[in-house]
Amino acid sequence: MYYNWKETTNTEELKIVCNLIKNGEIVIFPTETVYGIGANAFDEKAVGKIFMAKGRPSDNPLIVHIADKRMITDIAKEITEVEQKLIDHFMPGPFTLILKKTDKIPNIVSAGLETVAIRMPNHVIARGIIAFSGVPIAAPSANISGKPSGTTVEDIRKELEGKVSAIVDGGETEIGLESTVVKVIDEIPCILRPGKISVEDIRNVIGVAELGNGIFKPIDESEEVESPGLKHKHYAPNKPAQLMYSENENDLIFEINRLIKSYKGDVILLGFEEHREKIIISEQRFINLGSKENLEQIAQNLYSALRKSDELAGQLIIIEGVKKEGLGIAIMNRLLRSCGYQYEEF
Ligand code: AMP
Ligand code: MG
Repeated sequence: MYYNWKETTNTEELKIVCNLIKNGEIVIFPTETVYGIGANAFDEKAVGKIFMAKGRPSDNPLIVHIADKRMITDIAKEITEVEQKLIDHFMPGPFTLILKKTDKIPNIVSAGLETVAIRMPNHVIARGIIAFSGVPIAAPSANISGKPSGTTVEDIRKELEGKVSAIVDGGETEIGLESTVVKVIDEIPCILRPGKISVEDIRNVIGVAELGNGIFKPIDESEEVESPGLKHKHYAPNKPAQLMYSENENDLIFEINRLIKSYKGDVILLGFEEHREKIIISEQRFINLGSKENLEQIAQNLYSALRKSDELAGQLIIIEGVKKEGLGIAIMNRLLRSCGYQYEEF
């Protein structure tokens, strides 16, 4: 079933959706980061349906979403002082913390790890569904595994309609990129996946924080990684893509134009609106990422733009990159992975 809660949450429909969760079904719902596809985190069979619907590899664990910090005691144990500080400062919000898991969380959720990822969304619909269901909700992003995450219901329906019991529409998601995933290792918060909460934000609270390795480079299949999600292909359109960046704008535009001219085929450009006139690309093959000055807007547009690039005729996608700083770290992490690390910096 499709439920439109863009304007307001319908309480009768909320009961229906929460009954589906309680009865072991899976439901798509919005959060402030991206849409999630959720099930009762305590119900092994229900969580199995998420992996089936997404085609998600079973070694990639899910994030457990809570409506209230009191829910944490059922899910995680032995919380340290640093972890508690992170919970106090960054929940609710686009922030996921890896904690030692209790036995109540089935192994399918944590992909066999001793730890569990927890997030408290700052979104009225997500929180309402979790609170009225009365259980934590395990939910990865709403997309077929390997594809860009779903940030609008229009995008999601094309992929997942018919594979879930309900889709709740809350409009386009505000942030557009998944949460910052953090694990505290030897009392130092380590960012396993960058997001809107930056390394500086965490340093301001804890004093120290590090970016994990594997944020800007591929992880070898055989390597042991803290975050299993890093190993897998992700955010990828079906066509080959080339990511390009330079601190010098003129150099970047020159190199993009040179590639377009020399390429034997049609190019699609995911670029900034300020560059539209300076790059030799037709209107139909230009996808606007937003203003180069507005990283929030670029983040919000990113996944829909990647999906759109797949729908246009053309053989190569050129993507303009941003500086790896602040939110730019999360944007470049997703873009590097979406183009399979085909990246040139001038
Ligand atoms: P998604 O919900 O699709 O955005 O993906 C969840 C992300 O959190 C993936 O990158 C997972 O690898 C990561 N994650 C979930 N649980 C854990 C865990 N226990 N330890 C480390 N990373 C985790
Ligand atoms: Mg995902």
